[in-house]
Amino acid sequence: MKIFVVNTGSSSLKYQLIDMEGEKVVSKGLVERIGAEGSSMTYNNNGGKKQVVERLMENHADAMKLVFEVLTDKETGVIKDVSEIDAVGHRVVHAGEKYNGSVLINEDVVKALDECSFFAPLHNPPNIKGIRACQEVLPDIPMVGVFDTAFHQTMPDYAYMYALPYELYEKYGIRRYGFHGTSHRYVSAVAMELLGKKNSKIITCHLGNGASVAAISNGVSIDTSMGHTPTGGLIMGTRCGDVDPALIPILENIEHLSSKQIDDVMNKKSGMLGVSGISNDFRDLEDAFHHGNMRAKLALEMFDYRLKKFIGAYIVALGGLDALVFTAGIGENDYETRYEACKNMEFLGLYLDVEKNKSTKGELAEISLPESKVKVYVIPTNEELMIARDTKCIVKEMEKKSEEVVVE
Ligand code: AMP
Repeated sequence: MKIFVVNTGSSSLKYQLIDMEGEKVVSKGLVERIGAEGSSMTYNNNGGKKQVVERLMENHADAMKLVFEVLTDKETGVIKDVSEIDAVGHRVVHAGEKYNGSVLINEDVVKALDECSFFAPLHNPPNIKGIRACQEVLPDIPMVGVFDTAFHQTMPDYAYMYALPYELYEKYGIRRYGFHGTSHRYVSAVAMELLGKKNSKIITCHLGNGASVAAISNGVSIDTSMGHTPTGGLIMGTRCGDVDPALIPILENIEHLSSKQIDDVMNKKSGMLGVSGISNDFRDLEDAFHHGNMRAKLALEMFDYRLKKFIGAYIVALGGLDALVFTAGIGENDYETRYEACKNMEFLGLYLDVEKNKSTKGELAEISLPESKVKVYVIPTNEELMIARDTKCIVKEMEKKSEEVVVE
């Protein structure tokens, strides 16, 4: 079974074609600058050399057509015809309270996701464009939606409600939703396998340019750091994370900023970039810190401290901890951040293997000492694989149901 996994942004389209026999990536690529000058596609087939195609692509449909040209190219392609693709899995950011798991896409689902564009105006519309562009090329192939918010739909109301007038929740659905759900679900499932039990208390730290922490009890998300939007929670590359909400009217007054401008400041000019004035990238910041830059030092210390506070809060929320998991760009690669997060945690029975931590970069590893009661894992995330697995599962179920109908 071959599954095509799609993740569309406002001007980008990322894809993977996965052969579910052995879960092997047959082709992966990225189209960038859709609708702008200099649009191009970078891809590689069968893990081979990176290839680049430069072509003007006015919209996501053009981008999708190019992807399928590349996949079916007579000489360099990986499939003879699009009919070799059995199903498509789409990453969609926001499904509101509508879906708590992945679903087969039909017109009602697209309509519901379109309604959720209210919550994620920058993400859901391009995700829907991706679905439409795919339907043009593959009109008869089943498609599945996998949602970033779905995994966190298990949070109890006292964890997801804000202390705002209740009517705002009733009228507009204003509440914490949480994001990175597919990643938290994937790495927590791997951690449960490593622990050898589902009955477990796990904290997953997805630390990339966007960052969030989740508290997972027996495989179920009970709290997470991002909020109604992905701006809340941890300090991120360019996002501020949690700040005093009363700062917004203050900023309006003193800096004469509109709400759109404040949104821009909080999402694009804050976080590690805003504090350091140097970069949003941890590699640049650590380099600057080791060369004595005090603002890089401050930004890193702020990040570590905020992360630690969330971990502490979630240990209490979970009533203990079996495993702490690090994933995504920083979590998988940056031993200094992991070290800081695990420092002085011996009182909990968490003993980091300092050398193992230092030598672990981008691969699955247990980085706690054997005697550590709390296990610490680095688990590379794989959202595409999770999407492909969900897609396979839903398509198989659909096939089974239609067989049952025929039998009856
Ligand atoms: P992601 O959003 O998961 O792709 O993560 C991207 C971020 O990971 C970058 O902005 C860097 O801050 C961080 N990162 C990636 N590679 C490294 C590395 N080798 N060391 C430290 N940080 C890294």
